[in-house]
Amino acid sequence: MDRSAGGSNIAYDYSQRVMGEFYGVNQSPTVIVFAGIHGNEKAGVKAINMVLEKIKDGHMRFEGNLYFILGNINALNKHVRFEKVDLNRIWRNENLQDFKNKSVDLSAESREQFDIFEIIQKILSHGKGPFYFLDLHTTSASSVPFITISDSLNNRKFSSNFPIPVVLGIEEYLNGPLLTFINEFGHVALGFEGGAHDDPVSVINCEAFIWKALVHSKCLKRDQIKNFEHYQLVLTESCCKYQFFGINYRYQLEPDESFVMEEGFENFEPIRKGQLLARSNGKVIRAHRSGRIFMPLYQELGEEGYFILHKISKFWLKASIVLRKLKINHFLRLIPGVRKEKGNNYTLIVDPKIARFMAKEIFHLFGYRQQIYKDDKLHFIKRDRKVTGFE
Ligand SMILES: [Zn+2]
Repeated sequence: MDRSAGGSNIAYDYSQRVMGEFYGVNQSPTVIVFAGIHGNEKAGVKAINMVLEKIKDGHMRFEGNLYFILGNINALNKHVRFEKVDLNRIWRNENLQDFKNKSVDLSAESREQFDIFEIIQKILSHGKGPFYFLDLHTTSASSVPFITISDSLNNRKFSSNFPIPVVLGIEEYLNGPLLTFINEFGHVALGFEGGAHDDPVSVINCEAFIWKALVHSKCLKRDQIKNFEHYQLVLTESCCKYQFFGINYRYQLEPDESFVMEEGFENFEPIRKGQLLARSNGKVIRAHRSGRIFMPLYQELGEEGYFILHKISKFWLKASIVLRKLKINHFLRLIPGVRKEKGNNYTLIVDPKIARFMAKEIFHLFGYRQQIYKDDKLHFIKRDRKVTGFE
């Protein structure tokens, strides 16, 4: 059913893709905020509208440039996560090449992706860095707000401005999220999950995140924002603290699997080994290890049933910063069975036997994440990199 026109629901128009754009006196940094990449996640869109109202009333003077961009407009109008494919799982170079060749018939989401891609290209080619990409989401389970990032040092540094949990390395488990694609060009890219989809608090959290991000990126001075202290408190009081989590396990759903999560799990809730988590095709699923439950699936559409997280130690975080700053990662290439990809400084090709022998953790420590399995070899891709434009 197409409910995009009429009715009491707000219909989003394609002319509203760029919800707002502001140019500052220094034109630097450039902050780009996305919302509604998933059509059933409207909290971010509402938060942007609240921010836009306040910008209009406050006559704010910007230092840098700011853009607000709507994600999956078609899915937003239909109140679904996506129509054909998840818009946050198709950001791969080969898909974008297809646009250039114009050889394919574009599906609903591809058309949205093409639009967004063109806008990002324009912003990157005209704007001055540094660039901060922020993507607002919500979750089907109830949740404290949290951040997801690829594990690069510039992402970690910017995340440290927010007193909430940070989940590292989700890109090893998800294929083609927008922010991983952006990260490949060296820019800061943070996913912000504001809370549960329909919880009004999620809108408040998203709004507080936007104001804080504008101040910490130096796009806007804090004295330009009325009651900035209030936004500081929103995230501090909402939960917990700034701490890092890594992903140990993902429960991937089969195409026709009937998966039902046990009721009542919250994001980051501790679980014990053997605990009943879900039912799949009528069979019980128990936790194979202890940890924290993450993104338990309480909606129809989704590719993951749940994840299991562990808390990352301060020692590991510090050690990884030291190792990366020493730039001794080329020593990894001296290990038999590990070589650099020709013409690509960011990829190590690893014999799977070696990878089994050397813990994946060592590559993670140096900032490499296992991304793809190609020609019987593992490709580890470095997350820290020099800033470049799109080709
Ligand atoms: Zn989402």
